[in-house]
Amino acid sequence: MTLIDTLNRPLRDLRISVTDRCNFRCVYCMPREIFGPDHQFLHRDKILTFEEITRLSRVFVAHGVRKIRLTGGEPLVRKDFPGLIAMLASIPDLDLTLTTNGSMLPKFAGALKDAGLKRVTVSLDSLDNKIFKSMNDVDFPVEKVLEGMDAAAEAGLGPIKVNMVVKRGVSESSILPMARFFREKGYILRFIEYMDVGNSNGWRMDDVLPVSEILKMIGAEMPLEPLDPNYHGEVAGRWRYKDGRGEIGMIASVTQAFCRDCNRARLSAEGKLYTCLFAIKGHDLRALLRDGASDDELSQEIARVWNKRADRYSEIRSENTIALPKVEMSHIGG
Ligand code: SAM
Ligand code: SF4
Ligand code: SF4
Repeated sequence: MTLIDTLNRPLRDLRISVTDRCNFRCVYCMPREIFGPDHQFLHRDKILTFEEITRLSRVFVAHGVRKIRLTGGEPLVRKDFPGLIAMLASIPDLDLTLTTNGSMLPKFAGALKDAGLKRVTVSLDSLDNKIFKSMNDVDFPVEKVLEGMDAAAEAGLGPIKVNMVVKRGVSESSILPMARFFREKGYILRFIEYMDVGNSNGWRMDDVLPVSEILKMIGAEMPLEPLDPNYHGEVAGRWRYKDGRGEIGMIASVTQAFCRDCNRARLSAEGKLYTCLFAIKGHDLRALLRDGASDDELSQEIARVWNKRADRYSEIRSENTIALPKVEMSHIGG
C-alpha cells in the first residue's frame, strides 16, 4: 500500500544509517571538536540488529519503498556489514545501494558484490591531498580512496558514483580537476552543496558555493547540456558533456530546494524514523520492535508517521532556521 503525506508525496526511498561511528572526521559532518575521544557513540545494544533492519526494510518495501541506501556514519566500520547486504539483497523489487567514504573498499568490495550489492557511491571531496586531508581531518590520503573505487569497479559494483561536497573558500580549486578526472574514468561525479545539517559544523550561507556557479565553471571548459531525470523525485540534477563523454550530477539542496518531490524517509542506527534530514525528532520504531509489535503494527505506525508528514525544511531555510535544533547527519545518514 503506497503512503502519501500531507503534501501529496509518496514514500519511495529509505536511507538507513547502520552506525553512528566513522573512521573520518569530516569537518562538515563530524568535526573533531564535537566528535572527539570523549564523544559517546551509541552502545551496541541500542543499535538495530541486522535482523531488525531487515524486518523493518520488508515492512517499508510493502509500503512502496523501492530504493534503500545504506549509509551512516561509515557503514563499513559495522562488523560483518556484507552479512547485512546478503539479508537485504534477498528482498524482491528493491534497488539496494551503499554510500561509503571508500576507505575500506579494498578489503570489502568483493564480499559486498558476492553478498548481492549492485552498485556503490563513494565520497571524495578533492584530488588534492592537502585539501582532502583538511576536509577528512584524519590525514587520509586521496590515493587510498581511489584504490577503493578501483576495487569496487573491479568487483563489478559500477558504474560508480562519486559524491563531492563543495565548500566555498576550501575546495573550489578541486572542481575542475575532479570533473576532468572522473570524466576520463567514466564515473558519475555529483557535486553537493554544503548543507547546514546538525548543529555542529558551524554552517554559514557564505560557505555554500551554489551549483549554478559550479555549472558555469565546468561548462566554460567542457560544455554541458541538461538531461531528464532518471525517475520522478531524483535528488541530483543530471547534466551531460556535449561531446557525449559522460555525465555529472548536481545536488543543489540549499539553493534549489527539492522538497516538493521529496519521497525519502530515514532510519537512524538506533531505529528512529525521521521524515526529513533536518528533523528535530524521530519516531521510535526500535521500542515497538523490542516490545513485540507485529508487522501489521509496525506498518500502521509507519503509515501514521508518513501520513502526517509536512516537512519542507530546505524551502523555508533562512538565517533564522540555522540555529534550530537538528539531528546530526552521522546519526541519521546522508
Ligand atoms: N560515511 C559515508 C560517506 O561519507 O560517504 C556515508 C555517510 S555520509 C553522512 C553521506 C554523504 O553525506 C557523504 O557523501 C557526505 O559527503 C555527505 N555530507 C556529510 N555532511 C554534509 C554536509 N554538511 N553537507 C553536504 N553533504 C554532506
Ligand atoms: Fe564520516 Fe561520511 Fe561523515 Fe565524513 S561524511 S565524517 S566519512 S560519515
Ligand atoms: Fe526532503 Fe527535508 Fe531535504 Fe526537503 S529538506 S528535500 S523535505 S529531506
